[in-house]
Amino acid sequence: MNGLMKGKRGLIMGVANDHSIAWGIAQTLHAQGAEMAFTYQGEAFGRRVRPLAEKVGAKLVLPCDVEDSASVDSVFDALKAEWGTIDFIVHAIGFSDKNELKGLYADTTKENFIRTMVISCYSFTEVARKAAAMMNEGGSMITLTYAGSVRVMPNYNVMGVAKAGLEASVRYLANDFGPRNIRVNAISAGPVRTLAGAGISDARHMFSYQARNSPLRRTVSLEEVGGSALYLLSHLSGGVTGEIHYVDSGYHIVSMPTLDELKR
Ligand code: NAD
Repeated sequence: MNGLMKGKRGLIMGVANDHSIAWGIAQTLHAQGAEMAFTYQGEAFGRRVRPLAEKVGAKLVLPCDVEDSASVDSVFDALKAEWGTIDFIVHAIGFSDKNELKGLYADTTKENFIRTMVISCYSFTEVARKAAAMMNEGGSMITLTYAGSVRVMPNYNVMGVAKAGLEASVRYLANDFGPRNIRVNAISAGPVRTLAGAGISDARHMFSYQARNSPLRRTVSLEEVGGSALYLLSHLSGGVTGEIHYVDSGYHIVSMPTLDELKR
């Protein structure tokens, strides 16, 4: 099927470079006819994001640091001025101090706990509220989460707590906006080699372990995450909201390592 996103306009938040999950999603949406605006965090990322945005024909490429509500406001002011309404958003933003993505969760500081929550959890609620105000004929929003929200993953620590909050937000936002035909879902991606992923201590071991022990015996590609995002953002998933959709080669369904792993 082609042109699934034709005539739809949306905001992509969270591209840092061409390895970003948000970039994988943007490429898929572009191939299906979506018109997109992009945000970037700070000028160093801006230099990387602008040429990527250009490749998919985006005209609006805006700075946004979600710790600063004024910066979020100015993104939506610009979108309102340029487009008037929007149809979808992709929120692929997460951050925690990498010194606390190792060791004991119990050692998380209050400062980093709050910062992680604001950037990785609250920002989706703030962005969703502003986006919903611009969605007149329904719409679809997605955020990115990880299974460390529901099960303990080594070193994921406070990010797991933030993702648990983010997933609960998805359900509350889905209920808030459902009567206006605005759907809110999350993709729970398996490990992908990105800048954010590299901040988690020993991430490469988790990456190869999940590749060996998931039902599909591999990790997932940006294209596969992009395909699921396309489903959630297009009319194909018209009856789906409040869902945490796993795109993780099935890793979340297994309770034990494979026999090969046990015999290693
Ligand atoms: P990435 O580093 O490419 O993207 C993370 C993005 O968050 C960057 O663009 C960064 O600029 C942005 N960001 C961080 N703090 C910000 C702030 N204050 N204001 C605005 N933007 C800010 O890494 P990624 O892996 O593509 O991450 C995207 C999302 O996917 C994150 O929510 C991450 O937790 C989630 N996720 C990643 C994996 C993985 O294995 N890489 C797995 C599941 C979920």
